Amino acid sequence: MAIARAISLNPKLIVLDEPTSALDVSVQAQILNLLKELQRDLNLAYLFISHNLAVVRHLSNKVAVMYFGRIIELADADELFSNPLHPYTKVLLQSIPNINPEKPLLVEIEGEIPTPLTSPSGCSFHSRCSHAKDLCREVDPELQLINEGHWVSCQGVSQEDKNKGDV
Ligand code: SF4
Repeated sequence: MAIARAISLNPKLIVLDEPTSALDVSVQAQILNLLKELQRDLNLAYLFISHNLAVVRHLSNKVAVMYFGRIIELADADELFSNPLHPYTKVLLQSIPNINPEKPLLVEIEGEIPTPLTSPSGCSFHSRCSHAKDLCREVDPELQLINEGHWVSCQGVSQEDKNKGDV
């Protein structure tokens, strides 16, 4: 009903905030397919917000990963899912449920999620990142263009690529 009401206003852009999270899987699939059809038929743009990475991959052209209220990686969906660069994105993608017995069922990120009251210095992910170095604790990394259309906010990625002469 909410989607129908939004579309009745003839919008160019619709913000969908976890639109299928309360639905069972079969209804979810119907709604997602309906959204794709509407997007194609009405030339709509969606800002789709979700914790369900399988759904994000199914529906999105471009994906922004957020941590602690900021975008830490941004790329075309195919590029982001096949070549994640930020350590947080990598762990997120590893935690997508799978039925492969060779892979761990659940990958956990150690450490506490920061709060605005305990906002960390430097990179907000440093207290949980296995690649953190001294620089990460001191300098807040900016979102940088690493390669075509792929933006990352991580000292490790930019340094590594600069050292290789790739950037
Ligand atoms: S900047 Fe450092 S702490 Fe932050 S994600 Fe990159 S390597 Fe990890």
